[in-house]
Amino acid sequence: MSECTHDCSTCASKCSEAKEDKSSFLAPPNSASNVKHVIGVVSGKGGVGKSMVSSMLAVAMQRRGYQAAILDADITGPSIPRSFGMKDVEVFGTEMGMIPPKTKTGIEIMSVNLLIDEEAKPVVWRGPVIAGTVKQFWSDVVWNDVDYMFVDMPPGTGDVPLTVFQSLPLDGIIIVGTPQELVSMIVEKAVNMAKMMDIRILGVVENMSYLVCPDCGKKISIYGEKGMNRLAVEYGLPVLERLPIDAKLANMCDSGTIELMQDEYMQYAAEVLESLEAKAE
Ligand code: ADP
Repeated sequence: MSECTHDCSTCASKCSEAKEDKSSFLAPPNSASNVKHVIGVVSGKGGVGKSMVSSMLAVAMQRRGYQAAILDADITGPSIPRSFGMKDVEVFGTEMGMIPPKTKTGIEIMSVNLLIDEEAKPVVWRGPVIAGTVKQFWSDVVWNDVDYMFVDMPPGTGDVPLTVFQSLPLDGIIIVGTPQELVSMIVEKAVNMAKMMDIRILGVVENMSYLVCPDCGKKISIYGEKGMNRLAVEYGLPVLERLPIDAKLANMCDSGTIELMQDEYMQYAAEVLESLEAKAE
């Protein structure tokens, strides 16, 4: 065996000290794309508000003057176009790749639901095809000068989220959960998966955290506050936002007007994301 150069990327021998080259799994970006930060939005299971939070994060950053984008990697449950009211929107292509349609305020979006003719048609594909589609959304789409791309990840810790974690150059992830989920092991598994893969966890968003009494305005934590506190203390994860159960939010998501969300939401999360900007400069 030749002498070790400590450069595992150019060495063919499989010695015990060989380091896995994480970059070898990365899908190549489109040559016409320019994306500064890629943030994964993950959850332990579906239906906890992950897509809504991805949309709200993009709205908050766009309002602060950045170019935001959402890559909808939740291929079998794509709900991003609906939150932005993108119905009957056509996706155009050039020789460089697909051009992501923009929302009313200019957020760039790519989702399987923009490519199929009927919103309610199920995507009945096997894991490798789903993972391949996500890679194509990165490599075959011309993302134009994006400051913050949010990747609405498939829920859970299975094969598809694993491939997505490995394929996209994530700066970090934001974990979304409801109070009941945050006390369970499901979110802990997602936290541990990110740690095993050396992916930075930027913080946690607790969704459906409390109710605001319509009469007196008091916040009622109907599920208690254990979940968030446990993650914050045991794993040292910052709490980026606590969102109420709010019919207005549900209505905005379901009627395609999430860009009208109240200014108060996602302010601290936006500051944390801006601090990534400062570090990169
Ligand atoms: P996921 O992406 O985790 O599957 P979604 O973001 O699609 O979940 O949310 C599922 C449903 O729950 C949507 O109809 C959404 O409008 C609703 N929802 C999510 N968060 C809230 C909330 N805080 N208050 C009221 N409804 C919510």
